[in-house]
This record gives sequence, structure tokens and C-alpha cells, in this order.
Amino acid sequence: MKKELSTNEFIKIVLAICDNVEKEKDYLSELDRATGDGDHGVTMSIGWSAVKEKVSTLEDNFTFDKICMQIASSFLSAVGASAGPLYATALMRGGAKLKDLTVINSSQLSEFFDAAANGIQDRGKANLGDKTMLDVWLPTAKKIKDISSSTDNIIEILEQGSLTANEKMLSTKDMLSKKGRSSKLGERSRGHIDPGAASSALIFKTFYEATQNL
Ligand SMILES: [Mg+2]
Repeated sequence: MKKELSTNEFIKIVLAICDNVEKEKDYLSELDRATGDGDHGVTMSIGWSAVKEKVSTLEDNFTFDKICMQIASSFLSAVGASAGPLYATALMRGGAKLKDLTVINSSQLSEFFDAAANGIQDRGKANLGDKTMLDVWLPTAKKIKDISSSTDNIIEILEQGSLTANEKMLSTKDMLSKKGRSSKLGERSRGHIDPGAASSALIFKTFYEATQNL
């Protein structure tokens, strides 16, 4: 049972995400080669490496919103296109919900994910079913919100979120791409998992596992 998350713990989770993205870099690029330009793993690696470097310079008294702002801006400086602004917006919008806080509870965590998912939707202008990262973020944030109304155990909430994220990531395989480079493939975009959905599911999975191991 875990009811609260501190900024120090959040930083450990972020570092675990950086490490797992690095481990899955080749897989993410391989997914992108099927329908795009094959750079998603490299792009994510560049972005999260910049985040890792930034995190080591953060001061101990930083609040959630400040940490999110710092890592969003380093991600955006490193990755200017496509996934860069989307992840940066997610972090900034999510962080803005946690202003001046150094410890959060489960409902604040669910507000973080909800704002992050809405930020991705606003910035990317995709709809559900377009075969993008939004197909993971929106339903996962909703699941987290729903679960957090019945339990305040952060581990349980993140476990359910991680399961939903994985299921929704797999569901992009049968979708027809309507956004970005892969949309030009038309019917040929079917049969492949969206790389942005895959990196998003990896983030939710790592968020859960790292929190469990705190
Ligand atoms: Mg690409």
C-alpha cells in the first residue's frame, strides 16, 4: 500500500524511464521503420538522455511543477519535432496541476496524467483511433482516474494504468493511421503497432514498476 509520492521518488521513476527507453531504443526504431522513418527509438533516446542529464542538476527543494518544467524544456530542446513537443506539453500540463507540491496523493497523480493526456490531445490534434500515442494516453489516464475514485493505493492505480496502456498499445496494430508520415501508407499502415503508442506504454509500465520498487 502506497498513498503518497514524493518529488525524490518521482525523480527515481523518471530515471527508470530514461533507462528503459535506452534499453528499448532499437525496438522502438524497428517499429517506426515499418510505417515511418525509423527514428523513434533514437529520438526518444536523445530526449530522455537530455532529461537524465537535467535531473542530475536539479536542486533538492524543487517542487513537482518545477521538476516537470525543467525536464519538459530539456526534452523539447533535444527533440524539436513530432514527439518532442507532445511529451513536453504532457509534462508541462501535468506539472502545472502539481504546483508548489513536494508530495502528492493518488488523486493528484491522476490529475497529473489527465492533464498530460489532454495536453497531448490539444498539441497533437489527433483523435482517438488515429493510431497515435493518444490512443494509449487518453484511455490510460481515464482508467487511472476511474480507479483512483475507488482506491488511494498508488501502486494499484499504476498497475491498472499499465495494463490498460499495454492493451491500448496493442490495439493500435489494427488501426489505420490518420496522422503523420504513416498516414500516407493508407491500408498498409495496418498490422503494425504505432511507435509512439509503444513508447507511451513503456512509460506507463516503467512508472508502475519503478513505483513498486521504491
Ligand atoms: Mg519517426
